[in-house]
Amino acid sequence: MSRSYEEIHRRSIEDRERFWADQADRLHWFKHWDTVLDDSNAPFFRWFRGGKTNLCYNAVDRHVERGHGDRPAIIWESVEAETSRTLTFADLHTEVNRFAAVLRRNDVNKGDRVLIYMPMVPEALVAVLACARLGAVHSVVFAGFSFEALADRIDGCGPKLVVCADGSTRKGKVIHLKQIVDRALDHAETSVPTVVVFDRGIDPWVPVSGRDVSWEEEIAAVGNARIDPVALDATDPSYILYTSGTTGKPKGVVRDTGGYMVALHASMDQIYGCAEDDVFWSTSDIGWVVGHSYIIYGPLLYGIPTVVFEGTPDNPNPGIWWEIIAKHRISVVFSAPTGMRMLRKFPTEWIAKHDLSSLRHVFLAGEPLDEPTYKWVKETLGVPVVDHYWQTESGWPMITNHMGIDPLAFKPGSPTREAMGWHLDVVDDAGNPVPSGERGYLVGHAPLPPGTLQTIWGDDERYLDSYWRMFERQGKSLYFSGDYAIKDKDGYFWLLGRADEVINVAGHRMGTREVEEVISSHPDVAEASAIGIDDEIKGQAIAAFVVLKKGVTPSEAVHKEIISLIRDRIGPIATPKILNIVDKLPKTRSGKTMRRVLRALCEQKEIGDLSTIEDGASVDEVRKVLEEMRAKLELPSGKDGSS
Ligand code: AMP
Repeated sequence: MSRSYEEIHRRSIEDRERFWADQADRLHWFKHWDTVLDDSNAPFFRWFRGGKTNLCYNAVDRHVERGHGDRPAIIWESVEAETSRTLTFADLHTEVNRFAAVLRRNDVNKGDRVLIYMPMVPEALVAVLACARLGAVHSVVFAGFSFEALADRIDGCGPKLVVCADGSTRKGKVIHLKQIVDRALDHAETSVPTVVVFDRGIDPWVPVSGRDVSWEEEIAAVGNARIDPVALDATDPSYILYTSGTTGKPKGVVRDTGGYMVALHASMDQIYGCAEDDVFWSTSDIGWVVGHSYIIYGPLLYGIPTVVFEGTPDNPNPGIWWEIIAKHRISVVFSAPTGMRMLRKFPTEWIAKHDLSSLRHVFLAGEPLDEPTYKWVKETLGVPVVDHYWQTESGWPMITNHMGIDPLAFKPGSPTREAMGWHLDVVDDAGNPVPSGERGYLVGHAPLPPGTLQTIWGDDERYLDSYWRMFERQGKSLYFSGDYAIKDKDGYFWLLGRADEVINVAGHRMGTREVEEVISSHPDVAEASAIGIDDEIKGQAIAAFVVLKKGVTPSEAVHKEIISLIRDRIGPIATPKILNIVDKLPKTRSGKTMRRVLRALCEQKEIGDLSTIEDGASVDEVRKVLEEMRAKLELPSGKDGSS
């Protein structure tokens, strides 16, 4: 078989079913599938219909059974806890069985939801895998989200059990996770019968009687229990992961079991170029999709160690990441451009003093990779830097260079070409391909490959509306990614940012509506507009403009209250870089806020066409407040060229 990218990609599209069946054969199935792809209810595609398997069995037991039990599975490095720990596949097997027994004893069964609100500790992975073992649907919530964001997700998925830690620390500062869970459960409409608390001795906690149990006591009670992995339908959901969309309500992306397993496993060698003796490190967090796919499932399904890091890139010094790579002889690193942009600020001596000879590739994703950062990483580390593009919805890369096949030439600024199984295009409003070199919407031709979202939890209509209805009227079955892109004459894709109202702050997706709704809930606020603006380190940052109700005088206090409202309701990651109170917002005659005008003013760029604006004075006003703010911060004065 030819190993060229062209050939493999063509086969993955033209002979799709055979291609994926070959990949699926590399894993264990309790029962073989009847149909590789069931597209009878498109666009609700179902892969490996009739097949029975288990993600936990394939990620843990399978390796123990083939004699790899003493190989490392999880390498935990915690700067925060000043400790490290390695769990072999055999250790992981024991721990996962025990926690699966804890779940069982607390009446968690196949199909029940379990919400996990945990820091970067091995027990978080154990909890996830124990759910997968039973067929319970996990929903991991990033342990930096506020109690209100957590409550929304609890109401969204209705968990039977919540797993949390007492607390965690960030650069030594305590985050009261259990207290946040308590507040979230007070706030949520859903009542959750059981909360399991993993006590790290960080933050003393008071159990809620009849509801809270301690991880340690529960584990002691089950002893060395063994729980057989449940033979699940390949099409059963494995997890729900919330992500931002264009409305204020986060979307619960639903993943299947069999298709996800097959796609991730195939990606480990074909895309990430891994082999059996590699060590994989994704610097993300288990609360994000990258964490689900490439901290937990991908490396473990492939049988190689995954590094779990609890800390920040610059603590105790900006050499910590490089020190960890050297210490564990890590071969593949998966990170985000933000992390690299941050580390770039420090002298390269922090890198030079570590032996990074084990490192083969650095993969970056989550946001556009700017050329200076690309060059810096490539030159200082001396290894290929692979920019690759994907989304919570896709679960694994959509556009990438395949380091395990026959890598194509890199073009800095482009994540290269379609991943195996993906047939992408760049189209106009009517869904027709635009000529190469021209901007359009990035879309995926149906059917989507295995591992992609099945639907939005409890809301099939929203799934159709968000991803498939955009071009339906033109009779086209195209998945809308939400991004603008260009395809060049060589078939390389260039991402140009979101085409919908979603902001990407340091690789974290946030809906502008989410932020606006929170601001508008302040009793003094009449209306608000939030936009994403360029930011040197984070890629994008939030700028918010607020109009107060008549009779309310703008004050520092209101300003502060709005900021803390955002931090409380969404989390510190949503704190706006700019928040300005204005008398009016620039609007079109039809009453729509002209976000592009706000963005141009903030970024000091050309404003462009103002023919549809309702009231030109609003532009002058926004410009004036921005000038005042710049003067206060002693920033260079604005020059937008529009006057
Ligand atoms: P998330 O679902 O949070 O992973 O965010 C996915 C979004 O991040 C995509 O729709 C893009 O807007 C952006 N994104 C991810 N990877 C890249 C990349 N390599 N280049 C440009 N944008 C990216």
